[in-house]
Amino acid sequence: MKKGKLLVFSAPSGSGKTTIVKHLLEQPDLNLAFSVSAATRSAREGEVNGKDYHFITLEEFKQHIKHDDFVEWEEVYRDNFYGTLKTEIERIWAEGKNVIFDIDVAGGLRIKRKFPEETLAVFVKPPSIDELKIRLKKRSTESEDKINMRIAKASVELATAPQFDTIIKNYDLDTAKVEAYELVKQFLAD
Ligand code: 5GP
Repeated sequence: MKKGKLLVFSAPSGSGKTTIVKHLLEQPDLNLAFSVSAATRSAREGEVNGKDYHFITLEEFKQHIKHDDFVEWEEVYRDNFYGTLKTEIERIWAEGKNVIFDIDVAGGLRIKRKFPEETLAVFVKPPSIDELKIRLKKRSTESEDKINMRIAKASVELATAPQFDTIIKNYDLDTAKVEAYELVKQFLAD
């Protein structure tokens, strides 16, 4: 199978990486397809099984671990498991496309280590922890407890930024989208 490229976007929850990834997916010239992760959390309103995530049970997730089906997986938050299935990359490369990932920092760095040549690992940096809090509260998809859990993790995640190939500062979403597009375009051309 001809290998395509891998574009990893990682960031603390609420940094805007999902919006940036969606924007890139809408650019036909980049020829991207989204790596649909497996996840054990329940679907949020509007999320579609098989499109946003493969929503599976913890039992199914453990079976995938046992069968070595994942390129990487993480217990991103307590009792919430997320993982990239090998079949996702294979499926997308077989279609002749490049893979784009919206995954946590540990997973992103693992993909980079496994596919160093093919991967561009991008860290999306929020303006500040305070701004993250505001964004997560505005989104109001999580309980207060879960928001605090995500904030606590964000400080640890921010410290990993220098390990990425490049950092995009998401202080202004439109500017970040343009920057992300230019970066990906350049990487795909090399
Ligand atoms: P959310 O619950 O907000 O959709 O995602 C929580 C975090 O898990 C986000 O940082 C998201 O990028 C990350 N995530 C999603 N899929 C994967 C995956 O397959 N592997 C890893 N390591 N993290 C993932």
